[in-house]
This record gives sequence, structure tokens and C-alpha cells, in this order.
Amino acid sequence: MDCKNIEKLIPKFLKDECTPKEEALILAHIKECVECKEELTIEFLLAEGLNRLESGESFDLNAELEKRLKEKTDTKKKRQKWLSPEAAMIVWDMIGGAIVVAVIIGLLVWSML
Ligand SMILES: [Zn+2]
Repeated sequence: MDCKNIEKLIPKFLKDECTPKEEALILAHIKECVECKEELTIEFLLAEGLNRLESGESFDLNAELEKRLKEKTDTKKKRQKWLSPEAAMIVWDMIGGAIVVAVIIGLLVWSML
């Protein structure tokens, strides 16, 4: 993925409208690419800075961006973790379902012989 595409995704990313896949692309890209990281920082500062000026909140935006990126990287790591207990349950359900279907099909085929 090149810088042009990343640049297009940045506004979406800042509004939290990216898909997990797009987010992963951006996070991977800004690790390698200083220009895009800068672009992201500037757009974030502009967007958030205006919000803060209006609401009069505190102003440590760089730290905030770092925090936000870190949170996203962390959730990404969590998502990549091999099968959560819930996911494992779903997989077992599917395997169970598949066995039932296989048995039914087997019986149908057998009864037709
Ligand atoms: Zn780039």
C-alpha cells in the first residue's frame, strides 16, 4: 500500500471510521513511513485542536495521539490472539454441526441404496 492510499484513509482513521483491515494497514505503514506519520499527526492536531479550542480542554495532543495509536495497536494484538474462549466455542459448535450434517447425509445416502 502506498502513501497516496494511506493519506486518503487518514481522515477516516481519525474519525474512527476505518475497518480493522484499513486500521492495520495504516498502523503498519506509519511505522515505516515518516511522512505519513507526520501527515496523520498534523491532521489529528488540526481536528482535535479545533475541538479543544471550542471546548477549552487541556492540550497535550501529541501524547494523546500516541496513546490513541498505542490503544489501537494493543487492540489489534488482542484481535490477533489465537482463538478466544468464545471463538473456540463457536468453532466447536461448527464442528459439532458439521458432524451432524455428515451423519444425516450419510444416512440419506445409505437409505437410498
Ligand atoms: Zn507513507
